[in-house]
Amino acid sequence: MKRKKIVVGNWKMNMTMDQSNSLIKELKSISENDVEIKIAPSFTNLHNAVLLGQLSSSNGQYIEVVAQNIHSEERGAYTGEISAEMLKSIGVKSVIIGHSERRKYFNETDSILSKKVKTAIKYNIGVIFCVGEELSERENNNHFNVIKDQISIGLFDLDAYEINKVVIAYEPVWAIGTGKTANSNQIQEMHEFIRELVKDKFDHLRNKSTNDSAASESLRILYGGSVKPNNAKEIFSLQDVDGGLIGGASLNFADFSTIIKAANG
Ligand code: PEP
Repeated sequence: MKRKKIVVGNWKMNMTMDQSNSLIKELKSISENDVEIKIAPSFTNLHNAVLLGQLSSSNGQYIEVVAQNIHSEERGAYTGEISAEMLKSIGVKSVIIGHSERRKYFNETDSILSKKVKTAIKYNIGVIFCVGEELSERENNNHFNVIKDQISIGLFDLDAYEINKVVIAYEPVWAIGTGKTANSNQIQEMHEFIRELVKDKFDHLRNKSTNDSAASESLRILYGGSVKPNNAKEIFSLQDVDGGLIGGASLNFADFSTIIKAANG
């Protein structure tokens, strides 16, 4: 099955509103229609990004806007937090959940992340669910177990319909922002492993009478961790890689547009 590639720029805590607006305008000039381009700006820039991203342009380029976080509860006394309904009300289509920086600096556990996933999906917000092992876990040959736990706790109480709202991003923690990239074998074997996990859990639940494609076949699995213009093409050519989650290199047009082009090829 041919899966359309996705390239997501995770802007983290970068970009003023002016910087965000001008990069989105540049991105709108790209015409790579075989790639879904998504950006995840900070909360303060989300609404403007939605308006700019959906503006019609001569080349028909649409930029989908993703939030970097969401609260697990639907509403209430949670000062400083942002709910699914708020995101929905400004046109945000999806949210990153489980990024290693949220796990590490904000103590987000697998069970909190599972709740966030459920809440997002309840409001029909797509989820980009990040998983990844620490370097020590890989060195101890425990990386497959770590990913299996993260995925099963985070996603396995979804049903056969809900899992279709999820994109998984494999991001080895030791490769994020470090300039170290996992090699092609490490990436392909982990992506294949993730697709197998989803297959075992969800594929038998599909509704064959309505000809639904199997969840594992349509699932997009992104790689993240120091994807740069010079390595993107090789990574995106791997069989089970369906695009990338890009941090540092998504902050400037030259690098990000080269990476997007690499996903089109
Ligand atoms: C990320 O933060 O998700 C990421 C992959 O960052 P970088 O590309 O900078 O490693």
